[in-house]
Amino acid sequence: MNSVPNFQFDSQLPRVVFGAGSLRHLEREIDRLGAIRALVLCTPEQRANAEVVQTIIGARCAGIFDQAVMHVPIETARAARDIARELQADCAIAVGGGSTTGLGKAIALESALPILAVPTTYAGSEMTPIYGITENGIKKTGRDSRVLPQTVIYDPELTLTLPTRLSVTSGINAIAHAAEGLYAQESNPIMSLLAEEGIRALAQSLPAIVADPADIAARSGALYGAWLCGAVLGNVGMSLHHKLCHTLGGSYNLPHAETHTIVLPHALAYNAAAAPDAMRRIARALGTDDAALGMYELAHRLGAPVALKDIGMREQELDRCADIASQNAYWNPRPIERDAIRTLLDDAYRGRAPAG
Ligand code: NAD
Repeated sequence: MNSVPNFQFDSQLPRVVFGAGSLRHLEREIDRLGAIRALVLCTPEQRANAEVVQTIIGARCAGIFDQAVMHVPIETARAARDIARELQADCAIAVGGGSTTGLGKAIALESALPILAVPTTYAGSEMTPIYGITENGIKKTGRDSRVLPQTVIYDPELTLTLPTRLSVTSGINAIAHAAEGLYAQESNPIMSLLAEEGIRALAQSLPAIVADPADIAARSGALYGAWLCGAVLGNVGMSLHHKLCHTLGGSYNLPHAETHTIVLPHALAYNAAAAPDAMRRIARALGTDDAALGMYELAHRLGAPVALKDIGMREQELDRCADIASQNAYWNPRPIERDAIRTLLDDAYRGRAPAG
């Protein structure tokens, strides 16, 4: 019997309505919020999804704002807030991935408008009180309970159109939240259970999605895993992996989910000796012996990118990237050693198997 470590437990989790076809419960869920006029948010590419929502909620739709983009530029956030005010919206429905949810959070931060999230990727932002807004090219992030969505509708039918490559990388982005949650400073037994189950659900569903993107059971399994992994991200801390990805995304504009996919095996290898119990649980969830190698092989098998050089990183930036990632580091089970981080980045750049 393993001994139970000391821990503290708080949780902040939105109401969840899960299941294929659950979008039909939107009107009921708007009523539960005590709202009557919803502003629907989406990216330009997902306008059709927003129009489906508009049809479902009829007179409860105040309008559609279809300008959500990656990293929530402050100008977009201001424009969306102004429109919400003009249209006298009393809630916002964010239909899309982390970028659209992020726009909803930026509105809620200033206006306290309740957010109803309808996620269509596996990024998990809908489960966290973490927001990010980009001003003058710099993304500021913070935590505020006002931005946590009140309700989340997980309808796997909306993920059927998520391209296979983005399904895989977004799913591994979710796995990264859970993996770091298992060795986080604030880890606790409940979040660790969610993390292991979330990784297992995604590791089993993603190969089935690659085999058949229309497999609704696999889509349900992946969205279920994304929920659990997002809950872990929202309730315990982030470490080296997320710091590296924030550096690569923020300073070099690399694509979010692909960056997570490439970096995760290397961050796990870096931390392996310092977090043996977490590694054992990650490996068990993946059905493998070695967490870092298991993640690398899963990404490879699913056709995901494994080298930073293939997604736009430049070799001459690796030194500076190692410097930035080593400064103001997040808590990590193994101390951050700049030279070891530089070696890690070199492995990730070239797409080598993780060291260790
Ligand atoms: P995204 O929201 O940027 O979406 C990527 C593209 O896929 C967009 O064009 C979108 O319209 C499209 N798309 C989304 N779902 C689709 C579907 N079902 N079918 C077809 N196309 C679809 O990507 P993402 O990876 O979900 O989110 C990334 C952003 O979220 C980053 O800015 C990241 O920082 C943020 N994020 C924040 C948190 C948090 O807790 N605050 C957590 C995870 C991610």
